Amino acid sequence: MIKYHPKQEMLLLHAQGQLHLGLANAVSAHCELCAECRHKLNVLTEQVAQASLVDNRPSVEATNTEMDFSDMMDQIMGLPATPQTSHSTSRKIVQVNGYQYQLPRALSQQANKSWSGFGKISRMRLDADDDTARASLLHIDANGEIPEHTHTGREITLLLSGSFEDEFSQYVPGDFIELDAQHKHTPKTTNGCLCYTVVDAPLHFTKGISKLLNPIGELIY
Ligand SMILES: [Zn+2]
Repeated sequence: MIKYHPKQEMLLLHAQGQLHLGLANAVSAHCELCAECRHKLNVLTEQVAQASLVDNRPSVEATNTEMDFSDMMDQIMGLPATPQTSHSTSRKIVQVNGYQYQLPRALSQQANKSWSGFGKISRMRLDADDDTARASLLHIDANGEIPEHTHTGREITLLLSGSFEDEFSQYVPGDFIELDAQHKHTPKTTNGCLCYTVVDAPLHFTKGISKLLNPIGELIY
């Protein structure tokens, strides 16, 4: 069962269309996997649309019951676009190191780049549409791990397939994990896993000789 969800404020920002693409895709993909957040997001999106309709209503004309149908349509068309649910996009299948995965719709269109790899870790860069954040698909082969590290910024990991564990918990597909500089962890996987990650700043390795781990750091940020 999914235990980790985006915070309410992140869902609200998503409903308002205020998240950068990397985060918006993380929330959309989570909502494809999580009925609870999908419902919350629908409610918030509805509230945002209602609030916007009230804001846009011309005060005098609005009291007039003969408000013109075309005026009303103009108001509706002027509303901010609702977050993408991308019903029309089919779910892409990606292959990496002999593993095969079907992606959520929210990530399918973008996932057309090649993989870079180092050891058991592979990465495909996706667009974050932000100055500092970087979005990626990250794959770890069975029995792989990422050396203990912390973050100078925020790290969001959405587990898409497989499972992994760290010092805090064991994770299942759909888990939306948000960590910052206060968290130090060593993710490892027994059967392999595919994640979508959004990272604000480079990783900081806390053990071993950081220089030797730089290729991994490069892949993950
Ligand atoms: Zn959720």
